[in-house]
Amino acid sequence: MDKFKIMKGWPTSHRMPRRLVLALVLVVMLAAVAVTGCGRAETNASGQSGSPSADGSPSADGATMSDGSQAAYGVTKSDGSPTAEVANGATMSEDSTAANNVSPDKLQVVCTLFPQYDFARYIAGDLADVTLLLSPGMEAHMYDPTPADMKKISRSDVFIYTGDAMEGWAAQIVESLDASVHVLDLSGYVTLREEDDHGENEVVYGHDGHAVEAEDAHDHEGHHHHGGFDPHYWLDMTNAAAMARAVGDTLSALDPANKDAYAARTAEYVAQLERLDNEFFEVVQSSVRQDVVFGGRFAYSYFMARYGLNYATVYHSCSAESDPSVSDMIRVIDYIDEHDSPCILYEELSNGTVAKTIADDANIETAVFTTGHNVSLDEFRQGVSFIDLMDQNLEILRKVLNE
Ligand SMILES: [Zn+2]
Repeated sequence: MDKFKIMKGWPTSHRMPRRLVLALVLVVMLAAVAVTGCGRAETNASGQSGSPSADGSPSADGATMSDGSQAAYGVTKSDGSPTAEVANGATMSEDSTAANNVSPDKLQVVCTLFPQYDFARYIAGDLADVTLLLSPGMEAHMYDPTPADMKKISRSDVFIYTGDAMEGWAAQIVESLDASVHVLDLSGYVTLREEDDHGENEVVYGHDGHAVEAEDAHDHEGHHHHGGFDPHYWLDMTNAAAMARAVGDTLSALDPANKDAYAARTAEYVAQLERLDNEFFEVVQSSVRQDVVFGGRFAYSYFMARYGLNYATVYHSCSAESDPSVSDMIRVIDYIDEHDSPCILYEELSNGTVAKTIADDANIETAVFTTGHNVSLDEFRQGVSFIDLMDQNLEILRKVLNE
């Protein structure tokens, strides 16, 4: 990255060319990345065995904390020990032992993305076998079900997915399913935002103050986002709570003998989501700044809208195919200068190339702000929960907004 260091020394009057050069270099780098497919480089499943019980260790019921306390689910203690235990029967798709774990007397629940998987495995406890179709670390937007995955879906009791905007492949499969498979499309429980709806919070302007949104904010591609809706609704904690309730209600309806257990565990999970909702508000409102910068694929429009953060972003969507334009880059570089931004954020399971290059040039920090689509193999083995991920985001935000 030495070439950027040289540019740093340019006098202020040449800052515009410097920015332009940096932006152009980034665009060229991205084009090279796209050709080699590095966008997925760190997202390939590093192993095929994702089961928490693959090593033979029993996976405890998630309701009971290791210290015996009942309350907080999924809270990672300050000593770093994960306290969220993975529920019995929870498996990831590629685990070869998954088939052997299937208990014919238990509900079989198959989930597409990590959020609903985590809700289901917690709410079900040991009353159901819950499977995540994504392998650990797999990039959610590039996922297409394998024949084996389709078999899992067709043999399940409940198939839980995000909606047509995320899983464009689901509609066709759902049509072919027997009536014995209950289909839960969670997008029916939230208000969807349009894909191009940047909301009032995104700062969109050019050097000369002219709005540049119209020309470049709509040229991004979202090949996997059908229907024009942004699928990342789980990042608004009230939506996440609605999803958890829908999962709980569905399990209760299909297995009424255990409805009290499902209801109790749903309430526990929702209480954690409500805590997070309050804490995100509290952090944003009580901090020195209320603005953030993103240099990675952007999945946070629900989050920004809910918690009232202003932001600038290089990318306008989460799609693997989306590429930022030169004007997107320049806008973000300007925004960092003007707001004295201390940090540029990017998404998990990526190499953060764009964010790191901009950060190097501006001499600021980078940090990962999790989207929660999926977890890494390590995180899965540690039993990291959606609540843990959002608590990590909370701490990142607390730091970034107060520097
Ligand atoms: Zn996404």
